[in-house]
Amino acid sequence: MQKKKKEKTICSYCGVGCGILVDVDAKGTISVEGDPDYPVNKGMLCSKGKNLNYVAQDTTDRILYPEMRWSRNHPLQKVSWDTAFERAAAVFKSIIAKHGPDSVGFYVSGQCLTEEYYLTNKLTKGFIGTNNIDTNSRLCMSSAVVGYKKTVGEDSVPISYADIELADCFLIAGANPAWCHPILYRRLEAHKDQNPNVKVIVVDPRKTQTAAAADLHLQILPGTDVILFNAIARLLIEKRKIDKAFIKKHTVNYEAVKEMAFSLTIRQAADKCGIEFSDLKKAAQYIGNANKFISMWTMGLNQSVIGVSKNVSLLNLSLLTGQIGKPGCGPFSLTGQPNAMGGREVGGMASLLAAHKDLGNPEHRAQVADFWGVDHIKKEPGYTATEMFDALESGKLKAIWIICTNPVVSMPNARKVEKALKNAAFVIVQDISHNSETTKFADLLLPAAGWLEKEGTMTNSERRISYLPKVIDPPGAALADSEILWRFAQAMGYEGFDYKNTSEVYDEHCLLTKSTNIDISGLSYDRLKNEGSFQWPVPHSTHKGTPRLFEDFSFYTNDRKAHFNLPQSLYNTSEETNAEYPLILNTGRVRDQWHTRTKTGKVKRLLTHIPQPYLEMNAVDAHLLKLKEGDIAVIKSRRGQVQVKIKVNFDIRDGVVFLPMHWGKVFNNDFGRANNITNDAVDPISKEPDFKYCAVQVEKF
Ligand code: SF4
Repeated sequence: MQKKKKEKTICSYCGVGCGILVDVDAKGTISVEGDPDYPVNKGMLCSKGKNLNYVAQDTTDRILYPEMRWSRNHPLQKVSWDTAFERAAAVFKSIIAKHGPDSVGFYVSGQCLTEEYYLTNKLTKGFIGTNNIDTNSRLCMSSAVVGYKKTVGEDSVPISYADIELADCFLIAGANPAWCHPILYRRLEAHKDQNPNVKVIVVDPRKTQTAAAADLHLQILPGTDVILFNAIARLLIEKRKIDKAFIKKHTVNYEAVKEMAFSLTIRQAADKCGIEFSDLKKAAQYIGNANKFISMWTMGLNQSVIGVSKNVSLLNLSLLTGQIGKPGCGPFSLTGQPNAMGGREVGGMASLLAAHKDLGNPEHRAQVADFWGVDHIKKEPGYTATEMFDALESGKLKAIWIICTNPVVSMPNARKVEKALKNAAFVIVQDISHNSETTKFADLLLPAAGWLEKEGTMTNSERRISYLPKVIDPPGAALADSEILWRFAQAMGYEGFDYKNTSEVYDEHCLLTKSTNIDISGLSYDRLKNEGSFQWPVPHSTHKGTPRLFEDFSFYTNDRKAHFNLPQSLYNTSEETNAEYPLILNTGRVRDQWHTRTKTGKVKRLLTHIPQPYLEMNAVDAHLLKLKEGDIAVIKSRRGQVQVKIKVNFDIRDGVVFLPMHWGKVFNNDFGRANNITNDAVDPISKEPDFKYCAVQVEKF
């Protein structure tokens, strides 16, 4: 008997986007293994990916049918899909008629498939007539998006994972890929093992697993990254380690950046960053002597009120050294979520337009409006993530539709989010799991299909688009998110949503990208199924994809040059420490948990690594505060408090404490939820919140 072919799909967790082979036996038991033929992971999977079968198999927490309540005094009750769509449409129509289209909004997720993102964006910007669609990707990559746009003219990661194996120097800033992008890190580790001359520099206030294995760990004071990157720039210029020919021919604004880099001496910069002068010089030496230099970064730079400044000052280093557009070098932002990039391709944010077109450009708005068959698209950006919840709290926004994300745990200043949701006239939550704390705020709860239960596409950190097939049926009455969205649009009476399948949505999206910098008009479901994944652009049907951008040094800016940019701020100025709040809190991920644990929290094996939230604290600070390992402490900020156990070590620098972001309610909201205390201040351009810099006090419970 011929053995059944395993289905090829993609991991649903991080932006590395590993290939997975899925097998479902005659009894319906699901097993997973790394796809040996997939170019990203070559058969490897990290602990989270390896355990995805348990997540897909266990339906005990699943939302099985639509539930609705007629008022906040009533409990949610099971209803049919028809009733759910009728009510959703009736409420949206009545709110829009009374308060205008800007009184409703959608808050979606970097875990949505591209087709789902596309439909939500089309529905919101094209048909409802508001740009109020934002996503949890705002909390993740929006500072990097602005950095790329300012530097190379487009939200475009120029390089591929394959460049890792060609590089000889890595600067990893504000990232812990050993835990958060494990398979990508394993590739880097293996490359370094085989090539001992390869240098790895890590910038992080904590000695993470990534930092511990580095050649040089710059344990900087939080918020001083821009000063560090400027100082490295100065040293590169002084030591003549810059690519003058590249700068002259292919860039603009070098002199201004040079002037800024020289505004501090190297010793002043080292002091401000809290690192040794000699280490700063060594970092510049490693970068300056490298033949192929890659910078990698993620939330440590992005999640900041100066996130854009941090991004542009790091990108300046790639331009200074001419290390872009060539094999083995370039800037490489590591996406947190599996499809944050796909979401941006379809314009699924309040400040973007579909197909990387520009919301501020009247011609682009007209092109998209024509394509969708609507009169116009508003030029003003909609509410971004934090603004959306502020507007709910103030009453400007009346109704919110939340898809595949759990803002009650993941948003900064989470109590404010709870208050905002209570204040909303109508809340729709579309999710797979009752484990999401946000579901309890729903007036209408819609059961969505999960991983393996629907088809669509995703784009990983290296612009690689992959197809995810439907392998099993969703439980109960759950529907694919795409179908939920197009049926709602039909209930609203909008034309242009009579799709028969997801493939039609995908084809429409591809057509809209034609002749743009992200042109994928040559990429169909058939090609993805038969030929495998492709890196955009893929402009015609025999095109093989584009592993590396800017090989001709022609950038996407109007003048085709790469732009050096001046950071607007040198320091993080969002909060001041003082006698009452003397420590800086940093938040982040742990190895075996994902976001708010709605999926990883139910896998026993993943709980053995770190089963509970904790506060990591330097032993000197703990001694001064008379705290010891295992004590329960109360951490207070200007916004609230949280209680967790203390973990004491010398791995985190003094004056800094660290809380994982994954936990919501443990016993109650005060125990474990890091976002009780985080700051909802945002970068003025990217609107990304400041999760990494929050003044706190710590005392024994
Ligand atoms: Fe999934 Fe990321 Fe792990 Fe790969 S590295 S298996 S994409 S969580």
